[in-house]
Amino acid sequence: MMHCPICRALINGAETCRRCRTELKQVQDVERQGRELVGAAMHLLALGNTAAAMRVLRRARVVHTTPEVRLLSTMVTTATPSSGAALNSRVGSSEIDR
Ligand SMILES: [Zn+2]
Repeated sequence: MMHCPICRALINGAETCRRCRTELKQVQDVERQGRELVGAAMHLLALGNTAAAMRVLRRARVVHTTPEVRLLSTMVTTATPSSGAALNSRVGSSEIDR
């Protein structure tokens, strides 16, 4: 979070907005938690553990949905679990359809 969600003042990592005095620590904690969950999901995907990655991403969507969380969720749910060739086979089948 670069700017205060209330008044848009630059925050620079402060826990309280210097302009409107909004307490930002809880918001920052939620953001950090969301980032950690995305990192954990990417790590699980790298290990090939798609099912666990999906569970972590579902939690990330509840905690703090970001464009990264949405993108990863879409990628994981559209790819067939337990098959690394899922995306390639999808491209292959759409070529056959034409
Ligand atoms: Zn503010």
